Amino acid sequence: MRSILGIKSEELRDIIVKEGYEPYRVRQILEWIYEKAVLDFYSMSNLPKELRNFLSGNFSILPFDLLTYAQDEETIKFLFKTEDGLTFESVLIFHHNRRTLCLSSQIGCPIQCRFCATGESFYRNLTYEEIIGQYIFAKSYIKKDIRSIVFMGMGEPFLNEENVYRVIDTLTEEIKISPRHITISTSGIPQGIVNLAYRNPKVRLAFSIWTPDEDKRKILVPLASRYKLNDILKSLREYVDITGNRISVEYTLLKGINDSNNDAYKLVRLFSDIPVFFNVILYNPKDESTTIYRTSVEEAQKFVEFLRNLGKEAHLRISKGLKISGACGQLRGAYERVK
Ligand code: SF4
Repeated sequence: MRSILGIKSEELRDIIVKEGYEPYRVRQILEWIYEKAVLDFYSMSNLPKELRNFLSGNFSILPFDLLTYAQDEETIKFLFKTEDGLTFESVLIFHHNRRTLCLSSQIGCPIQCRFCATGESFYRNLTYEEIIGQYIFAKSYIKKDIRSIVFMGMGEPFLNEENVYRVIDTLTEEIKISPRHITISTSGIPQGIVNLAYRNPKVRLAFSIWTPDEDKRKILVPLASRYKLNDILKSLREYVDITGNRISVEYTLLKGINDSNNDAYKLVRLFSDIPVFFNVILYNPKDESTTIYRTSVEEAQKFVEFLRNLGKEAHLRISKGLKISGACGQLRGAYERVK
C-alpha cells in the first residue's frame, strides 16, 4: 500500500476533494501525522469516519515495519524492514533532557569505510518517506517530542541530497524544528558541502575525517578518498564564508592507526585557518572479526588534551550504545548474521 508520507499536500488535497471532502482536511491529517505522530488513521478523531475508512483502505502511514530494537539507559536502536525486504536502522539518543534522533539516509553505504559495518554493502537510497518515517516512528514510540536531528546513521547524506533536503524542509517547516538543531554529517563530498551552504545555511555541518593523512585515507575510506583533502578543505572554507558557522570535525580514534600525537598535530595544521571544533570519538569495533581496535579512554583523553594544547577546542565523546551494537550498521549486521 502507498505510504501517505510520500504524497505531496497538493496531491493529497486533490485525492480527498475528489472523494467529496473539504480541502482543510489535508491540514488536519498532516497535523495528526507530523505534530502528533499518530500512526493509525482510525485514531484521527476530528476526521469523519468515512474519511478515516477511506484513508485506511488506500494508504499506509509508515513505509516500513519495525523488525526489532535494542535499548540501554542512553539509547534505543530501531531496526526496520522496508517494503522491498531490506533492513536499515535509526538510533534515538538520550542526553540529560535532550533527545536526539540519528537518521539513516541510505541502505548500506557506498563509501565502504573499512571499519564500518554499514559500509560492507550498499543497496539504495532511502526514499523521502522512509527517512521522515524514522522521525515519526521514533516520536510515536517514545510519546515525547524530539527536537534534535543528526544525519549520522547509515549512508552518506550528500549522496541522497534530494530526499534529505525534502526531509529537512518538512522538519523545519511542518514540524518546526530549528535548522540549528539539525546536523548533516559527511565523509567529505565537496559539492555537497557547498550545496548545503547555499541551500540551508542554518543547518549544521559535521565532517568525519578519519585521518589527516592522504595515503592512509586511501586505505581506510577508499571511496571518500577520491575527493582530495585539499578539495574538501576548500569546500569547507567556502561553507564557512557563506554561513559563518563553525564546523564540527568528527574524529574516531582507531588504535595505532590515527591516534598518535603526530596525527593530532597534522589535524590541527590542516584546520589552522578554518573555524572548527573536534569531536573525538571512541570507536565501536564492528564485530568480533575486526582487526581494528579502539583506543583506550586514557589515550583518548591525552589525544584530546594534545589538540587543546595546540589551541583547538576538542571534546571526547564516549560512543553511546556500546552495549547494543551502537555504531551505525551494527544492529543490522548482527540481525543479518543470525537470521
Ligand atoms: S562510516 Fe559513514 S561514510 Fe563510512 S561507510 Fe559507514 S556510514 Fe558510510
